[in-house]
This record gives sequence, C-alpha cells and structure tokens, in this order.
Amino acid sequence: MKEHARQARAENRIVSLVPTMGALHGGHLSLIERAKRDCSPVIASIFVNPKQFGPNEDFAKYPRSFESDCMKLEQAGVDSLFAPAPSEIYPNGFATYVNVDGLSEKLEGRSRPGHFRGVTTVVMKLLQIVQPNFAYFGRKDAQQVRIITQMARDLNLDTEIVVCPLVREPDGLAMSSRNAYLNTEERKAATVLYRALDAAKHELAAGVRDAPQLQTSLRRKLDSERLATVDYAEVVDAESFTSVTRVGKPCYVVLAVFIGKTRLIDNLYIEPKSADSEELLFHF
Ligand code: AMP
Repeated sequence: MKEHARQARAENRIVSLVPTMGALHGGHLSLIERAKRDCSPVIASIFVNPKQFGPNEDFAKYPRSFESDCMKLEQAGVDSLFAPAPSEIYPNGFATYVNVDGLSEKLEGRSRPGHFRGVTTVVMKLLQIVQPNFAYFGRKDAQQVRIITQMARDLNLDTEIVVCPLVREPDGLAMSSRNAYLNTEERKAATVLYRALDAAKHELAAGVRDAPQLQTSLRRKLDSERLATVDYAEVVDAESFTSVTRVGKPCYVVLAVFIGKTRLIDNLYIEPKSADSEELLFHF
C-alpha cells in the first residue's frame, strides 16, 4: 500500500483515504462519495482495530462482512482497498502509541478507557502508510474526528481531515455497524436517541439556551424508553468537549445509550447562524 500510494503521489494525483472497520453501510458510502468528488484515487481501508476495543467489549463479535463490503466498495467506485491483517499493523514487539491528552479522556474516553489511544494510534499508522492529501471521517463519531483533527494539527501531518455529515436511517436512527446487533424490538426502541435529539432541537429552536434544562429533558425522554439505559446525555463545547452551561458557541448534544446490551452513540451539532446571532443552525 505504501508503494501504491507513493506512485499516485508521484503522478501528482490527489490521494484520499476513507478509514473504516467494515460492515459497510450508507454512512461509510457517503464518505466515499464525498472523497470521490474531491480526489482520485480514493483508497478505503477496512481494519477492525483490536486496540480500540476494551477487554469486555465487542471486538470478537464485531460484524465482519468482507465479501459484501468489497462489492459495495467496487460499486461505489473506490480505487483500492487496504485490508491488512492485525499482525501486519501490530507485529510482535509493537510498542509505539499516539495519544491526544485531555480530549481522549472525556465522554467516550471516560466510558471506554484506552479507546481513543487505540483509534489515534491506528489512524496515525494508516495516515503514515497512505500519506493521503485528504482523509474523510463522519460526524457520527464527533469526538473521534475532533481528536483526529487535533492529532493532525499537533503532529504537523500533511493530510487534511475532512468532516462529513451524519447519515441516518429513514426513521432517524444513526447508521452504524452496531445496529446489526439489535433485535426487532430493540431496533424500534433505538430511535429514542434521535427522538431525544429532535426534542432538544425543538426546545433550542423555541429559545431554550440553558444546558442543564436541556439535559433534564433529554434524560426524561431517554428514560421513558424501557429498553434504554443512558450512559451519558450532555451538552458540550464543540472544541473542548467539556460541559457548557449555556448554548451559545458551537456545541454538541452528545448521547451514549445502551439499547439492551448494544451501546449506541448519536449527536446533534449546533452552531450560531452568525457571530452575533441568537439564531442557531442544527446539523443532525
Ligand atoms: P467505523 O467503521 O464505524 O469505524 O466508521 C468509519 C467511518 O465512518 C468513521 O469516520 C465514522 O464516523 C463514519 N461513519 C460511521 N457511521 C456513520 C454515519 N451514520 N454517518 C456518517 N459517517 C459515519
């Protein structure tokens, strides 16, 4: 892959990378579509990264569908696929890690210790291997892309990190490979994340700016769903991912909720329409 990407760069082509863990869905494909608009070649990667899963998490049972993923990538017009084995990425004796301090300990990092260290380490490796001009990430994982952007800045990477919109199912559920874990009843219940975010959006549109008040109504909505157990439901600053008391600057409403045994995340991105405006723009 290093040689392959080097060749494309030598031809002055605009190289892009779309990193994934496979079990591809419309969210992944939207990143590829976007990459194809800006770049050629588009390189996708599939790697279920063991280092970003905790010891009691779902690494072993994470959905893997390599054959159908390959077909989807081909259909989407991806130029090449990088699908290394874990032993290629982490050979015996592997000892170097990348960690973005501070941001990596908050929210997702608090619930999943070591998760972001695994993410930044593998993404750094993928970016080193391909050295793309652009790398595409989804806002579905808002904290992840914030951390990766920070890493790229801190380590002077030549890759521009592009943030793409979150893609949802018709009933609002954020597309995720983990949705495959849900049974019929849980699948229905899982829309509560979207319903809670949508209710928050309406409150904000009606003028509510008090974050604790928003959090209380988020909780109430989420708790009303019998199969849902809330991990966190917070309003955080979009830069620092620390709690805000009032919605003013760009921020996220972030949710992590268990539906049965399946942990799902979702978010709503909010920004002022203009610097001096009270009006807000919402990005679901
Ligand atoms: P994953 O395979 O879950 O590691 O995700 C690979 C990339 O796809 C990440 O940049 C994710 O943020 C992005 N992604 C996953 N789900 C969605 C979605 N529903 N909408 C947009 N991007 C997504």
